[in-house]
Amino acid sequence: MSSSTQEGCESGNRHAWKACEGQPSEGSNPSPSAMSASSGAVDATPSEASGAADASESVSADLASTDLADTDLTDTDLASMERAVAQAEAALLHDDVPVGAVVVHGTTIIAARHNERELTGDPSAHAEVLALREAADHVGSWRLDECTLYVTLEPCAMCAGAMVNARLGRVVYGTADPKAGAVDSHFHLLDGTVLNHRVEVTADIDAVRCGDLLRVFFRSRRS
Ligand SMILES: [Zn+2]
Repeated sequence: MSSSTQEGCESGNRHAWKACEGQPSEGSNPSPSAMSASSGAVDATPSEASGAADASESVSADLASTDLADTDLTDTDLASMERAVAQAEAALLHDDVPVGAVVVHGTTIIAARHNERELTGDPSAHAEVLALREAADHVGSWRLDECTLYVTLEPCAMCAGAMVNARLGRVVYGTADPKAGAVDSHFHLLDGTVLNHRVEVTADIDAVRCGDLLRVFFRSRRS
């Protein structure tokens, strides 16, 4: 991360983008117990470092965590969010803001990516955009209406727009982004009233863990 970006974030510059976009307010999950309980997560060795998906990997029921909250979630939902979190952790290897995304078709992960903005210098290299591209390559079409995208952080306007353009069927996100989220926090781009496609949304299914990944990341940048 460049120093200018970091400074922009610290000064509250909204246009410093992802560095700030991915930083939920400290008040969103203020529980000291929650913070301490997951503080080691970011230090763990990322289980996926390449950023590339293993083609057609089935989402098995080997769930590593039962902490995700929502009894309506399926095993596929839970396992897919686990993979998205692993992707987010992999972004830390190249000092990118830890956001991860996977795309699932049926019960098969067809794309798994993480934020690569710092790695590539590409302002559009958000996890969701990269995952949508990879998923489209996999299915051989830009239309992803039968797919679900799981992402650790509420999508920004660019990514939500890309989801509409992909005619994505559903998005599931881990934690809200009060500053730049374009699904529920601002704009409501996926509800079908602003743009010409509605994406089903399942929100905040892993808020503490996904939020702590970001909080620990930004705190380390400030120290
Ligand atoms: Zn984005």
